Amino acid sequence: MGQAAGQAVTASGFEISKVTKRYVDRTTGRPLVVLDGVDLTAGAGEFISIVGPSGCGKSTLLKIIAGFEQANAGEVHLDGKRITRPGPDHVMVFQDYALFPWMNTVENVEFGLRVQGMSRSERREQALEALSLVNLKHVATRPVYQLSGGMRQRVAIARALVLRPKILLMDEPFGALDAQQRRLMQIELMRIWEETGQTILFVTHSIDEAIYLSDTVLLMAANPGKFIHSERITLARPREVTSQEFNDVKRRLWGLLEAEVTKTERLFGEQLASDAAEGPRRRGLLRRRAA
Ligand code: ADP
Repeated sequence: MGQAAGQAVTASGFEISKVTKRYVDRTTGRPLVVLDGVDLTAGAGEFISIVGPSGCGKSTLLKIIAGFEQANAGEVHLDGKRITRPGPDHVMVFQDYALFPWMNTVENVEFGLRVQGMSRSERREQALEALSLVNLKHVATRPVYQLSGGMRQRVAIARALVLRPKILLMDEPFGALDAQQRRLMQIELMRIWEETGQTILFVTHSIDEAIYLSDTVLLMAANPGKFIHSERITLARPREVTSQEFNDVKRRLWGLLEAEVTKTERLFGEQLASDAAEGPRRRGLLRRRAA
């Protein structure tokens, strides 16, 4: 697993160039440009967070990097190799853990290794090592439903890390946790990141969380989604969230994001109003067509 366990660090750099993604709006049927020519470069072992208003395309970008969604244009490269489908070197950790409830803790962690065809004894050894990394070896044979939310998320992280990905993609991973558990998980993730040297791309709506964790914070705007600012966080770790320096960075980033969040809320309100006005017109049209 990590350096502590004496294994090779597999962290790598990655590059996203000119990624564009269009959907058809589910409610109106109109075309929706979600991402518009997004570029991003990360160095090996870098911790990058993306912060932006709800609906700006953060999850869509992560899904494209994970290979779950295809971009309409643009490319994603990991260590110079183009990514177009899911694979063990670019794995995702979700907010809802996505663990298998019928498997116990260690079986969940070794699942990906089983799919890869690794022998039973070898995959058990590696899964237990990954559970040690997240301090959960003692619950290896417990059913996952007996674990707390924070523990389940650590199992999900172990399940991802056991594959030794080149990049770990994390989509609002602590969004379902209460404030105390969230704080503990941030500290835990920093420890894991420092131990493994893992490249991480982390999506959050919390500026505090992004500043606490990251080497670089990227601010994203909506309609269409694109990066509007990149901030290198140079504060020494572990970061003190109540310090003057931390709050100075926070104030500056919020100053840049506030207008985007307000704009997105306003556009969303206008969209709802226009859909509401269009609804009766459409229903009338359908009735006429049916007649
Ligand atoms: P974020 O993660 O920033 O909240 P998302 O990436 O989830 O935003 O979504 C961005 C936009 O794309 C939203 O308007 C959302 O409704 C839309 N969207 C996401 N997935 C689909 C899909 N499969 N079909 C149509 N629209 C989608």
